[in-house]
Amino acid sequence: MDHLQQHRVQGSAQALRTPSGAAGGVGTVRSWSTEAEFLLPGGRRKVRPDGVWQAPEIGVPVLMVEVDRSTMSPERVAAKFTAYRELFRTKVRDSDPALADREPADRTVHWWRRTWPGPHSRAGYPPVALVVTGAGPVALANRQDAVADLAGDAWGGSWWTITRHDNDGDGWREYDDAVPVIATTLELLAEHGPLGPVWWRYGRPGRHSLLDALESPDTRQAYDERQAAREKKARQDHREWMRTLACADCGNVPKEESTWEYGPDGKEQWTRRPDGRCWDCHQKEHQRREEKRKAEAQARLETARAANAQLRPCWTCRGSIGGKAGSRLELKEKAGPDRLECPRCVSDREEKELGLLVLPAPTRRELLAARVSAPADQWWEDRVLHAKLYPARGRRV
Ligand SMILES: [Zn+2]
Ligand SMILES: [Zn+2]
Repeated sequence: MDHLQQHRVQGSAQALRTPSGAAGGVGTVRSWSTEAEFLLPGGRRKVRPDGVWQAPEIGVPVLMVEVDRSTMSPERVAAKFTAYRELFRTKVRDSDPALADREPADRTVHWWRRTWPGPHSRAGYPPVALVVTGAGPVALANRQDAVADLAGDAWGGSWWTITRHDNDGDGWREYDDAVPVIATTLELLAEHGPLGPVWWRYGRPGRHSLLDALESPDTRQAYDERQAAREKKARQDHREWMRTLACADCGNVPKEESTWEYGPDGKEQWTRRPDGRCWDCHQKEHQRREEKRKAEAQARLETARAANAQLRPCWTCRGSIGGKAGSRLELKEKAGPDRLECPRCVSDREEKELGLLVLPAPTRRELLAARVSAPADQWWEDRVLHAKLYPARGRRV
């Protein structure tokens, strides 16, 4: 580290420790070390933060600080976060006697947890702060963006979702194997102090205060809250929809849109409709209509029966042209003018194959008398017509 770099690192340390101005200063930082050096597994590569900041009293047991002076390529800066993840993945044997009878694989602990006992209240590995400096504001903003893109794998966590019909593919991120990265410029840090709203948490928009920035975005908890809100909304929508299905007669609001009910035709599905009825009211309505229909049919029958009783009788049996009252074949309407027999006699004629009913032709005497005065015979017109339609030859009389 040359003299200038040394100076700048000291500057960032100063910015973290005692910010100019009172805004958000942390006066009780327990430890700020710049000499730390950690060996990666394999023993050849090292992770050498520019500073290790420990402030457990404000809920930050450890924060690594990387100061980027715009001298390295963004790729190399991004690679540091991958190296941090490798470091934080390292597990060591746990000498806790309480674990003595566990399997050896269960007797390990993350090295960083043992090194900085915490309490660690946030998911994921210890956070790393990227402090950029050494260029203009636009270049520094671009640099923070570029490093975020390149190091996405180290800080992004893994996306999870639950396949279900009501979450629109929504999900959350798990950070078990992620390094939370917060970024800022040395200038912002110097101006507002480490607790000021200077930190961009990778994965979250905006600038936040330190403690806010350390809270992970897209957590399971946030997903659960969104999902609960979606389910609540769905229940409300369902209740509102159900209210539109209130029974038109009794006002009952259904719990379900469709039910299976026992009706006259066995089990049937009953689906409620807006302005429709509940099953019971539907049954009552159905019965009411059925009774009305029957009453109307009975009234029509009685009217027809009375009308038919006034007409000329059946030619063959001399009973009512409408048939015997209450019989199965009884006419339900007034008999037409061409009808000569009651339904029973028509049916018998068909069964016994008696052929067409042809009335006796008028005699010469009757024809003469008809010229003088209208005949009293109720069938007279039909007899004249039949005589015309069915000439004498072949008539069976
Ligand atoms: Zn009802
Ligand atoms: Zn008859």
